[in-house]
Amino acid sequence: MSTLPRRRFVAALAAAPWLTQAARAAHPEPRVLSFAHLHTGERLELEYARGADYLPDALAAVNHLLRDFRNGEVGTMDPALLDLLYTLHGRLGSRRPFEIISGYRSPATNRMLHERSSGVASGSLHMSGRAIDVRLADVPLERVRDAALGLGGGGVGYYAASNFVHVDTGRVRRW
Ligand SMILES: [Zn+2]
Repeated sequence: MSTLPRRRFVAALAAAPWLTQAARAAHPEPRVLSFAHLHTGERLELEYARGADYLPDALAAVNHLLRDFRNGEVGTMDPALLDLLYTLHGRLGSRRPFEIISGYRSPATNRMLHERSSGVASGSLHMSGRAIDVRLADVPLERVRDAALGLGGGGVGYYAASNFVHVDTGRVRRW
């Protein structure tokens, strides 16, 4: 359903070299992410992957940071989502951590939010650790959105009133 011209679509894929294990292995430099969680106040900066290998202890720390802050339930974040964030951060040239509005969401929390707001999908990818809501203090929100769309790595939702962009590793789509 992409409306991008084909040439641009191919360029977007080439710019996100994290799609296959072989492609990751060809980029041996450490991949580092930093986060600042807006609800818990917790911060984390760490190398989470190197080449084809994701670092299990780092993934566990990320899972803990991005837990459902409403009830403490820890989910499993999709490593491909971390690669998407890493690529996005590099593209934008940001020097600040990703500010986290929402990472993993337990089914109970998602149900509660869905009942309160039409903007929360009942089958949200937040429940499978494949979605995250973020902003960057040093990049305008529209630029974050546009760069995420340019990556073609999954869904991109723009929430101007709440000042965050949703990115996920599901089907390529936008709202
Ligand atoms: Zn979201």
